[in-house]
Amino acid sequence: MKLEALPSIKGKYNMEDYNEAVSSFDWKEAEKNFSWHETGKMNMAYETIDRHAEGDRKNKVALYYKDGSRNEKYTFREMKELTNKAANVLKSQGDIEKGDRVFIFMPRSPELYFSLLGALKIGAIVGPLFEAFMEGAVRDRLEDSEAKAIITTPELLERIPVNELPQLEHIFVVGDKVEEDGVHIDFMKHFANASRSFSIEWLERDDGLVLHYTSGSTGKPKGVLHVQEAMVQHYQTAKWVLDLREDDVYWCTADPGWVTGTSYGIFGPWLTGATSVIVGGRFSPEAWYQTLEEYGVTVWYSAPTAFRMLMGAGDELVKKYDLSSLRHVLSVGEPLNPEVIRWGMKVFHHRIHDTWWMTETGGQMICNYPTLEIRPGSMGKPFPGVEAAIVDDQGNELPANRMGNLALKKGWPSMMNTIWNNEQKYESYFMPNGWYVSGDSAYKDEDGYYWFQGRIDDVIMTSGERVGPFEVESKLVEHPSVAEAGVIGKPDPVRGEIIKAFIALREGYEATDELKEEIRQHVKKGLSAHAAPREIEFKDKLPKTRSGKIMRRVLKAWELDLPTGDLSTMEE
Ligand code: ATP
Ligand code: MG
Repeated sequence: MKLEALPSIKGKYNMEDYNEAVSSFDWKEAEKNFSWHETGKMNMAYETIDRHAEGDRKNKVALYYKDGSRNEKYTFREMKELTNKAANVLKSQGDIEKGDRVFIFMPRSPELYFSLLGALKIGAIVGPLFEAFMEGAVRDRLEDSEAKAIITTPELLERIPVNELPQLEHIFVVGDKVEEDGVHIDFMKHFANASRSFSIEWLERDDGLVLHYTSGSTGKPKGVLHVQEAMVQHYQTAKWVLDLREDDVYWCTADPGWVTGTSYGIFGPWLTGATSVIVGGRFSPEAWYQTLEEYGVTVWYSAPTAFRMLMGAGDELVKKYDLSSLRHVLSVGEPLNPEVIRWGMKVFHHRIHDTWWMTETGGQMICNYPTLEIRPGSMGKPFPGVEAAIVDDQGNELPANRMGNLALKKGWPSMMNTIWNNEQKYESYFMPNGWYVSGDSAYKDEDGYYWFQGRIDDVIMTSGERVGPFEVESKLVEHPSVAEAGVIGKPDPVRGEIIKAFIALREGYEATDELKEEIRQHVKKGLSAHAAPREIEFKDKLPKTRSGKIMRRVLKAWELDLPTGDLSTMEE
């Protein structure tokens, strides 16, 4: 599915930086951006906050926050003091030490960021949990990681089964007047009285940083451990992919409960000293456009599911807002449909830049950087210093245009250190000849662009042809009636598998057999006969993870009457 390519917009971006980079880039050189390059002693919280607070950016706004009645801003100097206070509370009241797992389970608020960075200042490993997790999901993660402490709000307390978690010693509660009983600690009370200075724990490059549980799209979430050294990649990609510059106002819409919300909601932007906008509350098209306008957001990092929902809200709505401050828009998390890119051109006058990476890679790997010509539907090319390939199941590299395993050569700085408590799982990511296998299926074209096809397990074999679900789904959402589509292979005695599409319609369309046929014909004409879904089922909503990914394994399980597996990350 090739569309006309969209040229890069020259002059708008750090073209020179980038061009020089590709020719001579090496991760070791990138380390020279950090003072620890000489000493070897580092701490992410120092590099993201204190370094700026001690220099020219001390009075620069680090964080704008808005939710309900709260409307606040904090400079880097204030952030330094407030994160010091949080570190003091955690250390004095919870006896937190280097390497302890400290979980954070609360809605987005400044206190979330103070306590997360405060925990990092002590050298703790932070485990961020999305606020919508229910008791079972919380228990699994605290148990698996043997967490010592959790920071939460009164509303979420009942979802923490403290009696079943012998390792969990402290629950810090961020609220008004908390009853203290030896386990529960009134975070705000101690925070008010805590000292503004703190002596940071200096760490080594392979000391722990964050423990992220994956999204659960393909199965039970895995606890992915990242280490301090990851900052090299966070920094360099924030510079060259997010293209962050001194005057930018940056908005990453991801919650820190997912890796995008830490790597690019906290670490990347603040390593470069950028100003970040953080908003609480639920998604609504009006509120999102309002945020872009109100803060004059210049760089915006979001996800296909959000763009599709904005697209669904119609083009009249977006015209009511002044979005002229925007200069760079990016996407991650799921394949970005060409239709969405076209729509972005129309309403934002910007190309949406797709980036591919995963919790395990810790940072962006294959990207449409600003200076690259975009081929809609392609994830772009490997970041300088990243070596990627398409390999077969034995690890042999495949030639151009052949679909296979998207693999990476070990050695990028933000690569996971291990899967917590599961060394065997960690080992299973590597082929005998060393390739890290992503679990995604893709091909590379003659010019080195990568094209995502689907999860390896979701690739469909129909009448001897391999079909990636993404291609079919993208064609489906081009049809004016289709809001979202999830495609699976359904076993068939004659064809091996047939393609079945689950479709959520846009408002105003009726689910009729004629429409099914029209949609089928649309794929047949636009893509190919063998890729046209033999079966179509309309659904009010598709099953999704809380981070907004379509759960094809759940569609398949429903269809085939199989067990659905771990649903801890599924939306209500
Ligand atoms: P789990 O590993 O628990 O099954 P998950 O793989 O969805 O869940 P994440 O690490 O959050 O967990 O997501 C990484 C995956 O998301 C990638 O392997 C890929 O399938 C998909 N993905 C991310 N970005 C893109 C993109 N730009 N294009 C296509 N797919 C993407
Ligand atoms: Mg995964």
